[in-house]
Amino acid sequence: MSVVPPRPDDDDQSLVDALHSGDEDALPRLVARHERALKAVTVRVVDERRGGTLEEVPACVKVSCRFLEEGLLEDYQRTATLRCFLASLVRSRLTTYLQDVTPPATHIAALPSTASIFLDEVLAEEPAIRVGGVVDRMQPNMGGFLRLRLRGLDREDIGRCLGLPAETVRGHLERLAKRLGELDDDEPAYAEIAWRMVLDAAPIDERVATAQRTLRDGRFRQMRSVVESTFRALRTRELLKLHPKSAECLDEEGAAAFVDGSARGPDRTRAEGHIGTCPRCIDAVAALTMDIRTIEALRTVQGWDAELAVAAACIATARYRAGERLVDTAGRGDGRARALTRLARIGQSLVLGVQEIVSEPSRVVATNVPSDADAPLVALEALLNDDTHTADRAIDDELARGTLGARLRLVSLAADPRATGSRALAEELLAKSHSDPGLVADAHATLALPEGSALPREIVIERVRDMIPATLKYLTREL
Ligand SMILES: [Zn+2]
Repeated sequence: MSVVPPRPDDDDQSLVDALHSGDEDALPRLVARHERALKAVTVRVVDERRGGTLEEVPACVKVSCRFLEEGLLEDYQRTATLRCFLASLVRSRLTTYLQDVTPPATHIAALPSTASIFLDEVLAEEPAIRVGGVVDRMQPNMGGFLRLRLRGLDREDIGRCLGLPAETVRGHLERLAKRLGELDDDEPAYAEIAWRMVLDAAPIDERVATAQRTLRDGRFRQMRSVVESTFRALRTRELLKLHPKSAECLDEEGAAAFVDGSARGPDRTRAEGHIGTCPRCIDAVAALTMDIRTIEALRTVQGWDAELAVAAACIATARYRAGERLVDTAGRGDGRARALTRLARIGQSLVLGVQEIVSEPSRVVATNVPSDADAPLVALEALLNDDTHTADRAIDDELARGTLGARLRLVSLAADPRATGSRALAEELLAKSHSDPGLVADAHATLALPEGSALPREIVIERVRDMIPATLKYLTREL
């Protein structure tokens, strides 16, 4: 395909019109217009199937463009937005393409976010089968909720994926947790609490209380570890099963229209009814929902070069390893590339375990005052290293006036067992009626702590993960 730059007055509507009327320039202009989005989806698909080996990305981007050249776009009925349709098309075709060229063993190694095979997963096989059986006997859509959770979507993502308010999703996840808790004959209430954590059904104050209980109660700790390994075993079982396509399955445009909200009325009801019971389609809409989140994250870094922009969008949406690899491949050593690499490593250390973080935690001590661009990174790295003092010192009063600075200061104070004043700060921040949901959650976590206790590490890690997209946004203003 020849490279034709998009024109300033191009929009999706006119480009599709031009394409359908046979204008030869329309397709290359359309591809150029959506190039970053196409690349982002390609990276995500390759990353899922190859476990972070991204050498094939350039070749796969070409393959993605070829799908569009093959006239697939001409079938576009305009029942979904073009952006979402393109993402859906590329994901589905590229997945099939990679399946054909990849031996099945590689798929097993590339399960999403499973860093290694856990021995206890083998022991959890039996409970996982029981859980599967129980869910099968519940309302049909419960399997869908569980599957989305197994796919790594939190309750906000699940809500976005199904077009439901997060609170409604929480209600379903709560019921699921209760039912799965009952599988434990001895301590159903304990098990339910553990399932509420795994299923993301617990609000922030409950998460804090549960994290504290985990630290002091050995029996509860054991219960949580049993539930977590059951969940992992269930994920291995469920996500490796192949599901044949049926006549009711959504096509690429149908999945796109469902995810972007274009499908309404009876069409939506029909799609919902099918998705609730079809693992194949629920996987398709889950993956597409997360693709769209990455594509939306591209907006934050609009002014950046395509390579770094795609890397940044991956990091903002928890594809840390892929993001870091993309920065490496771009071969740039400037401030943006360095900051992205640090942020990607912070993200990875949340997944891999904190000891593996490679950073310069002593930097703030050496220079005393980090630059404005560095300060949040220094604070996040210090929080992960349990160095709350350095984290707090990295945030000066000027920075603390912004949302991210305020969040970092609050979490640093709340995580420090010697510090005082975190409750007062949390109350002050809440009273300012901040609408930032991350800051509200940080404040509620702080206020949920009994007097004299510090935020448990589990919660600190959760809050750090939550701050990564905000940090990226901050960096785009500074770099
Ligand atoms: Zn289906």
